[in-house]
Amino acid sequence: MEIEFFGAAGEVTGSCHILRVRGKTVLLDCGLIQGSRKTEARNADPFPFDASSVDAVVLSHAHLDHCGRLPLLVKRGFRGPIYAQEASCELAAILLADAAHLAERDAEYMTRKTGKKMKPLYTMEEGEAVIRQLQGRKYRQGFNVVPGLEVCFRDAGHILGSCSVELWLEEQGVRKKIVFSGDLGQYDTPILKDPECLDEADAVLMASTYGSRRHRNRAETVREIGEIISSARASKGNILIPAFAIGRSQEVLYQLGKHYDEWGLDRFRIFLDSPMAIRTSEVYWHYPHLYDEEATRLRKDNGGMPLLPNLKLSSSTEDSMAINRIRSGAIIIAGSGMCNGGRIVHHLKHNLPSSQHHVIIVGYQAFGSLGRKLVDGFESVRIHNQEVMVRANIHTVGGLSAHADQDDLARWYECIKGHPPIYLVHGERDSQQAFSAYVARRCGAVTQLPDPGYRLDLNTL
Ligand SMILES: [Zn+2]
Repeated sequence: MEIEFFGAAGEVTGSCHILRVRGKTVLLDCGLIQGSRKTEARNADPFPFDASSVDAVVLSHAHLDHCGRLPLLVKRGFRGPIYAQEASCELAAILLADAAHLAERDAEYMTRKTGKKMKPLYTMEEGEAVIRQLQGRKYRQGFNVVPGLEVCFRDAGHILGSCSVELWLEEQGVRKKIVFSGDLGQYDTPILKDPECLDEADAVLMASTYGSRRHRNRAETVREIGEIISSARASKGNILIPAFAIGRSQEVLYQLGKHYDEWGLDRFRIFLDSPMAIRTSEVYWHYPHLYDEEATRLRKDNGGMPLLPNLKLSSSTEDSMAINRIRSGAIIIAGSGMCNGGRIVHHLKHNLPSSQHHVIIVGYQAFGSLGRKLVDGFESVRIHNQEVMVRANIHTVGGLSAHADQDDLARWYECIKGHPPIYLVHGERDSQQAFSAYVARRCGAVTQLPDPGYRLDLNTL
């Protein structure tokens, strides 16, 4: 029995690990490689295994860098079950349908641009085929995946339904327990419970994307948002919040609901202007038993979600266009999170030229994105082939990350008795090295940074 490191070994996206036990093959995640067009071209590469010989997939959570290559796996012959936490199944269905839709649109665009017929990475139909193979499981209820492999999902506190995965492998009388952290959330993240403490393991596979970082204080960030809202009230302007559909949009809504009276939000109209964020929020509202104590209490006090009486969900394009006519008193949450496309771009075009309006940047903005240009203080930006002056107030608030930082990661690891060896996945090499040095100093942990193709023989643990 062994684990072969394949995807996200020494990089941030494309999570995928291959487990072999008693002649069976199981994948732990099957994620999309994300980045530049050139990097993403690798998604179409063949897998280093025959897809039809894979017996099952175990999915840690619904983000595309963990599940986005599943349609390719199915297209190439995989017919087995895909196990995920129940809420994860619903979110994965939303994300995969969206990814397939974007892939089709991208292929059409490239066909027009190059004059050559381009095929999408996968089609809507292929995306939907995956959804039929998803099988929901609850947290803390172990189940058999194949003979010799038992799995249990535990809450990772990263997005709704996100899991750390406990895996028990058994072959020829030898039994080993591996823990895969999945993407861990920050402790005290709103709505979600804290990452669960797992008490033992023979080895730990740890996602270490933010292994070298320290996050800014969340309470400080929330206070800053309150101040921006009061200056928008004074300037009689609008507030635009570009937000990622999964997780970040729900947290922003939650903070607005929690501080509704304190921030005088009855004087605003609040819009969630993103069909995908709306569908995701509905999934969040359907799983109240997964909330932390505070969210449970707020929900009870308010007689159920949503907490915002003046929240309007804009599904249709007409609804979205109508928002553009509002000159004052609107809070607009729309995607995409980095302002590279989607409805937020239209709102930016209408609001950036006036100093009465505000933009709150709550998430990471990659170099080259429109969001990054705003963060970097560009005086004008190009939108839809037009030069748009930036006179609106741009605020960058940094404390709403969905990822555990260095300290959170170490705190989670220290719960596990006896400090078992750590295999770092999902993270750039320098951040992994920084985390490695940090845990060695903090608790004497021994870490390894496996390269793609490295095989860990579990009998040697
Ligand atoms: Zn994630």
